[in-house]
Amino acid sequence: MLSKVVIANRGEIALRILRACRELGIRTVAVHSSADRCLKHVRLADESVCIGPAPSIESYLNIPAVISAAEVTDAVGIHPGYGFLSENADFAEQVEKSGFTFIGPKAETIRIMGDKVAAIKAMKEAGVPCVPGSDGPLGDDMEENMQFARDIGYPVIIKASGGGGGRGMRVVHSEAALANAISLTKTEAATAFGNDMVYMEKYLQKPRHIEFQVLADTQGNAIHLGERDCSMQRRHQKVIEEAPAPGIDQETRDRIGNRCAEACRKIGYRGAGTFEFLYENGEFYFIEMNTRVQVEHPVTEMVTGVDIVKEQLCIAAGEPLSLTQDEVKIQGHSMECRLNAEDPKNFFPSPGTIERFHAPGGPGVRVDTHVYAGYFVPPHYDSMIGKLITHGNDRDSAMRRMQIALQELVIDGIKTNIPLHQELVTDTAFLTGGTNIHYLEKKLGI
Ligand code: ADP
Repeated sequence: MLSKVVIANRGEIALRILRACRELGIRTVAVHSSADRCLKHVRLADESVCIGPAPSIESYLNIPAVISAAEVTDAVGIHPGYGFLSENADFAEQVEKSGFTFIGPKAETIRIMGDKVAAIKAMKEAGVPCVPGSDGPLGDDMEENMQFARDIGYPVIIKASGGGGGRGMRVVHSEAALANAISLTKTEAATAFGNDMVYMEKYLQKPRHIEFQVLADTQGNAIHLGERDCSMQRRHQKVIEEAPAPGIDQETRDRIGNRCAEACRKIGYRGAGTFEFLYENGEFYFIEMNTRVQVEHPVTEMVTGVDIVKEQLCIAAGEPLSLTQDEVKIQGHSMECRLNAEDPKNFFPSPGTIERFHAPGGPGVRVDTHVYAGYFVPPHYDSMIGKLITHGNDRDSAMRRMQIALQELVIDGIKTNIPLHQELVTDTAFLTGGTNIHYLEKKLGI
């Protein structure tokens, strides 16, 4: 096993990684900005190193600072968590070149998956179903581009190959608007992502977002842990996630999940990963792969009993997966509400000191958070302050437990989105299940 690991992240995921390391007897190094000395995992870690001032660009995104922290503490591995440097291929490469283990896939895999045109090509070759589209970058020949769009059928979406975070996309409803949309998206992509390559896909109008969790070790084993439904979104940000996805039967789960696992074997994938799909009229369409642990991984842990972060660490240590595909069993249902320090009405961030904090409890309730009474939520980072997760024998029971847990949860001193969650977990359409990715924005009237 790895002897000592640097946790190159902050907040709830840093604490989550610390707990997994402790279970495995791995010593931990917390690297943090000067604004984050009071983070729970910094206090609990075996060692801590301040790597820079509050702005992420000078601390959590500062590659030389993170690598030096590993050097001075004699760590052997670096866990990037999610966000920050987790999907930065150059970082993964420099970590390995400096002689440390990057707890994630190989740099070249991250690079391919970060280029959407290359990712789609790799997935198609591996037999993963993709959105009908241009199958490659769009050239300057507008006649050819118009023909692509006619063949696919309007509306189409023009997407930047290097895009991310919901940016670099434009929906086109008619031929008259096509040429302009392509050139605008190209210009934007060049400025925002330093790469003006764009491609075309069919625009799906009322899809759900369903994603498959995979794990792959360095011995050629790859499995899937079923799917999550993350359709409850605002501005492409997930708000509530659940596993399994309502209405997906075991046969479908195995069919799509096995394709994902097969794709992992084909591309030599290593570690935990997620295949994101849009799901419409009974069909799955791959949109992208995330090469890291995700915020919503706990719902999969709750229904499978697999500790995904421990698996990541064991894979990085060269161990085989702890279970085979046949041993993966989906039991019951799990929901997750992301808790944000923000105004529930206008979504403005609400940093400040948490004056009172009471966590809910009872059977099937899990709280993943770094906050406590007296903790100051700094204004410099993402507004997520934790996650409330429930599990039950079926969806109704997981939902009921979520309703009760949200009533019990107290976070005073700052504004949070708890009132929004309370409304959503009693929403008739959500209670039925299977709402699409536009549902929340429609409900909020935006
Ligand atoms: P990013 O890397 O920026 O998150 P994605 O490719 O994952 O980009 O797409 C983000 C979101 O954009 C999707 O979750 C979906 O809401 C929307 N989207 C992307 N492609 C399509 C499509 N072909 N049809 C409809 N919506 C799409």
